[in-house]
Amino acid sequence: MQTQQAKLAKYQRRMAHKQKFSNNWKKAKAKVKKPHTQIANARRDFLHKATTTISQNHALVFVEDLQVSNMCRSAAGAGENPGKNVAAKSGLNKAILDQGWGEFRRQLDYKLAWNGGMLFAVPPHYTSQECPKCHHTSADNRQTQARFVCVKCHYENHADHVGAINVKERGHRLLACGDAVLSRSMKQELAEVSQLFS
Ligand SMILES: [Zn+2]
Repeated sequence: MQTQQAKLAKYQRRMAHKQKFSNNWKKAKAKVKKPHTQIANARRDFLHKATTTISQNHALVFVEDLQVSNMCRSAAGAGENPGKNVAAKSGLNKAILDQGWGEFRRQLDYKLAWNGGMLFAVPPHYTSQECPKCHHTSADNRQTQARFVCVKCHYENHADHVGAINVKERGHRLLACGDAVLSRSMKQELAEVSQLFS
């Protein structure tokens, strides 16, 4: 995947430097197409395997209700008004789009339904900043992107793992008081999906 990505970038750069619609441009364009197709195939394969496995082994799955396309829009910005934190966000957006989280959630949703399970979406607020142990919530708990260290009780874990714990806890809490939103009923509003495990 990584090498395909590098190849694609190289050919795309090459294409940008050619005169549009010239023969050399067409050659470069053909080269861009191949890694594109390979990346798309690898992604489709991964998504199907991952969603099948998860839906077979779990009855209940919670996802963060992040609207991926909104995040992309704000990171890209428009003309003279580029979105805030463009550099910080563009890496994340790329990763999300690369792995197709929208498609991931869509497949997970219907495969869980087939297997008699359910997918629930929970509000994403502060899932990456809340301490799962003492519930102290602060941006300071995230000294680095990857590491979570609670400034109050010193609980420590990988940030993604903490996000996943919080999403799960939140999902169970919301289910218990009947406020969880069933993913499928939100489909029309959310044509533009979410991300799993923060
Ligand atoms: Zn704590």
